[in-house]
Amino acid sequence: TQQFVDAIEGARTLNAYVVETPEKALAMADASDAKLAKGEGGKLEGAPLGIKDLYCTKGVRTTACSSILGEFTPTYESTVTQNLWDEGAVMLGKLNMDEFAMGSSNETSRFGPVVNPWRRKGDNRDLTPGGSSGGSAAAVAGDLCLAATASDTGGSIRQPAAFTGTVGIKPTYGRASRYGMVAFASSLDQAGPISKTVEDSAILLEAMCSHDMKDSTSLNVETPDWRSDVSKGVKGMRIGIPKEYRMDGMSAEIDKLWEQGIEWLKVAGAEIVDISLPHTKYALPAYYIVAPAEASSNLARYDGMRYGARVDGDNLTATYEGTRAGGFGAEVQRRLMIGTYVLSSGYYDAYYLRAQKVRTKILNDFVDAFDSCDAILTPTCPSPAFAFGEKSGDPVEMYLNDVFTVTANLAGLPGISVPAGLSDSGLPLGLQVIGKALDEAACFRVGGELE
Ligand code: GLN
Repeated sequence: TQQFVDAIEGARTLNAYVVETPEKALAMADASDAKLAKGEGGKLEGAPLGIKDLYCTKGVRTTACSSILGEFTPTYESTVTQNLWDEGAVMLGKLNMDEFAMGSSNETSRFGPVVNPWRRKGDNRDLTPGGSSGGSAAAVAGDLCLAATASDTGGSIRQPAAFTGTVGIKPTYGRASRYGMVAFASSLDQAGPISKTVEDSAILLEAMCSHDMKDSTSLNVETPDWRSDVSKGVKGMRIGIPKEYRMDGMSAEIDKLWEQGIEWLKVAGAEIVDISLPHTKYALPAYYIVAPAEASSNLARYDGMRYGARVDGDNLTATYEGTRAGGFGAEVQRRLMIGTYVLSSGYYDAYYLRAQKVRTKILNDFVDAFDSCDAILTPTCPSPAFAFGEKSGDPVEMYLNDVFTVTANLAGLPGISVPAGLSDSGLPLGLQVIGKALDEAACFRVGGELE
């Protein structure tokens, strides 16, 4: 813990942490030492973790990196972080992220962007770590924590993991409780870890997941022993390769990475099967209707009365308007406008309802495909990490980065990203494994083989 506390202090230029809690960390570490000396302790006893600033942490400022939450300090703990502390984990601090988890580059945070510890060969420009869990991914890759919590609404665990050479898994929707996680799009949001190894992710995810009466969408299912799956191998598994993910204009290096992954699994005894997910091309447009719609509803609570910052006006409406105009950043305001528009009467049927129907078709595509395979292999992202400003000027260009990840959220399925090679420019690239509902075990088996 002391080593990480020192490392965090020495690496503030990365801007990975937005709150550092060294005293708390050292006190928790001492308590862990005492437990371990007595031969007691949980599965994570003494493990120093970073926590994405989207998890409410009792007594520690939590703002989802939005100005509208001001200095908000929760009086309660999220279920996921409570589960981690119950197993003996140690909190190093809160990690930077895109504002309200909206973004793919960590450039929308109120605290400024996070720097990816990686650089392109022969090019010293700072790169984004991806988003929205950019702080989590950079902290893990930069050795500023053993592992971190993250969250994934459309790829925010898997894409930053791919951009930083780390492992990240989003479990099946409902595995982890959303209680105490700042909401973005409630039907898509899921908690998960980012770590250095597949085994670490298995250990952490086991600790994070639980049935929780405080979240009505939490599943009442047992959490399996995923750690033992990591080394089981893939012999006899059928791995589906969806032809629709071979997008027009896919770069040669991403194609090569995918082929390499297929080859590794074949050699390890898996059977490779061609599958079709015919509605894939509608996933991104459907996501960028459903997610903003839910966000516009969830973020209605930030009115200057209940939490955080307030800009006082002459009357109630002026106070609402001043607070929301001043407190939300540009990307969040864009999403709120899109979301409000697609939910408004007259447009609801044309956009929101249609997007929900597309969502069902995407889920059914997966259900059909899983008749002939046990897991699906795809690239995690269409490109390696990009430089600051490279995509932030064009929202559509930024949204296109999520093309391979949003499908798992729309269908509620588990997905892992595992580092699988380097780009021509020397940057890490990730492969994604999508499993059936509640079959994280398949993700860990295939992920463990690819690692
Ligand atoms: N990049 C996606 C978005 O901006 C996903 C974000 C996320 O998973 N939280 O909505």
